[in-house]
Amino acid sequence: MDIMSLNINELTAFCKEQGLPVFRAKQLYEWMHKKLVSSVDEMSNIPKNIRDMLREDYVSLAVLERYISKLDGTNKFLFGLKDGNVVESVWMPYEHGNSVCISSQVGCRMGCRFCASAIGGLTRNLAPSEMLGQIYAIQRLTGERVSHVVVMGTGEPFDNYDNLIHFLHMISDEHGLNISQRNITVSTCGIVPKIYALAEEGLSITLAISLHAPTDEERKNLMPIANQYTIGELLEAAGDYFAKTKRRVTFEYSLVAGENDSEAHADKLAELLSGMSCHVNLIPINPIKERNFTHSDKKSIDNFKFVLEKNHINVTIRRGMGRDINAACGQLRKKYISG
Ligand code: SAH
Repeated sequence: MDIMSLNINELTAFCKEQGLPVFRAKQLYEWMHKKLVSSVDEMSNIPKNIRDMLREDYVSLAVLERYISKLDGTNKFLFGLKDGNVVESVWMPYEHGNSVCISSQVGCRMGCRFCASAIGGLTRNLAPSEMLGQIYAIQRLTGERVSHVVVMGTGEPFDNYDNLIHFLHMISDEHGLNISQRNITVSTCGIVPKIYALAEEGLSITLAISLHAPTDEERKNLMPIANQYTIGELLEAAGDYFAKTKRRVTFEYSLVAGENDSEAHADKLAELLSGMSCHVNLIPINPIKERNFTHSDKKSIDNFKFVLEKNHINVTIRRGMGRDINAACGQLRKKYISG
């Protein structure tokens, strides 16, 4: 049993099954999701025999490594899971609050060519408790409130859809950490049916879609998922998400020198997105040593942004953070596994 993955109704049902009074569910929920304790022994109003009974069912993540960037204060964490697998998460302090980037899977099977998390494929999905646990451990360790969450670490969140939805409800639960859904972003490589499904969940989170190329042919070169869904289908799904949720969709576009960063690419992208209520986030590629992709120069990046702006497309360049601590995209886990 994994009691931290249970919402309050499920936890209440569990307590009943175990012959425990219903008020214990409320107490346990508060210890786990509000007070963020790291072990059952900290649950001081829960009798010892119940704590002993639940010891195996409640396991917080083990902090294996923590790096703090001297450049910008970014913290990178490597956490150990109960079964020995590891995941990484990043904490970023911003003026508007503290943001945590979490992983949704151990590894990933989407195979994007520039991504370190794709190497080695998928090991397994994360349980809701393991997604929550990354945020809880970070808030405990930094001592600062987490206000924003991005599901943009290792893994494809829509490849772990049910656990993702359960997690989103729990992290935004007013009896838990109560993170505003408006401050939560989920990033997908573009699994179209799940975009339609998310639009029906009644959540007001931001959807970010990894686009990375303005034509299907070029996108296929970077992302295998492009063989399954066309850009046309993706944009239609994004339009449906906006229509149903009124949340403006973000398109992520990682700039790779000589591959997708020319002015012609920017023109084509502007044409594709013209008239859409969206936002483009340009991500200068983080080169990984296993692949020979290189970072676009500043002039190309600025020009790409300029072309989009000229076409009235809302665009920002992602500030690279934690460059000194392997803070990007699966680099730390990879380094840890290969020893
Ligand atoms: N699977 C999800 C979320 C994880 S990756 C997705 O594909 O969106 C978060 C973002 O970082 C995605 O846009 C991804 O394509 C991008 N990314 C991955 N590796 C990168 C790298 N080396 N440099 C720049 N962006 C990268």
